[in-house]
Amino acid sequence: MMKKISYTILCILCFFIFVGNISAKTLKEVKDELNRDIANRNALIQKQKDVQNRIKNAQGDISNLEEEIEKYEQEIEETLAKIDELNDEIENKQKEIDNLLNFLEVSDGDNVYLEYIFKSKSFTDFIYRAAVVEQLTKYNDELIEEMYDLIEENKKLKIELEDKIDKNEKSIDNLEKKLSSYNVSLKDLETAHSNIDDTIADRKRTVNYYEKLYKQYNCKETVELDTCLTVESASGFIRPMAKGSISSEWGYRRCPIHGRELHSGIDIAAGMNTPVYAAASGVVVGITRKSSCGGNIVTIRHNIKGTMYRTRYMHLASINVTMGQKVTVLTVIGKSGGGGYTLRRNGGWDRCSTGAHLHFMILKGSTGSTTINPRKMVNFPGKGKKFSARW
Ligand SMILES: [Zn+2]
Repeated sequence: MMKKISYTILCILCFFIFVGNISAKTLKEVKDELNRDIANRNALIQKQKDVQNRIKNAQGDISNLEEEIEKYEQEIEETLAKIDELNDEIENKQKEIDNLLNFLEVSDGDNVYLEYIFKSKSFTDFIYRAAVVEQLTKYNDELIEEMYDLIEENKKLKIELEDKIDKNEKSIDNLEKKLSSYNVSLKDLETAHSNIDDTIADRKRTVNYYEKLYKQYNCKETVELDTCLTVESASGFIRPMAKGSISSEWGYRRCPIHGRELHSGIDIAAGMNTPVYAAASGVVVGITRKSSCGGNIVTIRHNIKGTMYRTRYMHLASINVTMGQKVTVLTVIGKSGGGGYTLRRNGGWDRCSTGAHLHFMILKGSTGSTTINPRKMVNFPGKGKKFSARW
């Protein structure tokens, strides 16, 4: 049972490690990820703009609605004032009517009646005056009725205005709810934006870092990171030159003078003064200058997964390293030579070489002279084929 569980945990762990690796296997994929993130950021910026516009619109709508409410409130005040005014007028008219009626009543009474009656020049005059009073009263009654109607209308108007205010207040409530949700999503977007900014900055640094190394290692963008950058642990050695072609293999050959003879290294044909790199990280353990046959020679000792090897680079035109120097696959240890003719003329050394090339050897152990076929440990193209990368 325990075993099962720990296997499960192990598998889950493996899965995560696997996923972690798979997310960016090559420089190209790292670049693709960067571009995807940049596209995501642009989409986020667009979304932020949208939400900001919505917020702006909602705020504009709210202030319009508030302005309307203010207007309605003013209109309500005016309506109430109108109702008061109409009530006053009604009161006045009522008084007028009362006065007129009093006058008529008085005409039926004693003193004033007498006065009025006697003021009338005739009975016709009296009738005429009474008719005028009656007409005026009727007219005022009509006016009062009209004013009551107006009051009713104003009351209705007031209710309508109050309804409008209610509606606007509800709309404002809704808009404010929307606003707060917009603000929340804007904050989320801003957080996502700043996160993606960080990610992009990281990715850019990563791309720059890998780009430099890929260039130095001469890897294509589609080559896996592990393959390009941790070659030592993967296969031990990489090519000591970034371009050239194999002109002669390691192995035994027939020599007309010496009989069966071992060609102890592999020959890489390249132009004069082509940079020569260490084939793996290690320490410089041998430097020979201007030897009559091998020219300038550098020997480097390596520890490949706990096993010791040495690599030797012969026919160098110049040497860039010193004894004991620690080197990596990025270290230019010298420039290629072997273009014997000029060198022979100039100093008489490196006589055994007939053309510009590097004689590259891999020796077993820290000492001794046993060589192994470099092809066993370095991925070289077939004989005569040009290569233009170190892997
Ligand atoms: Zn050779």
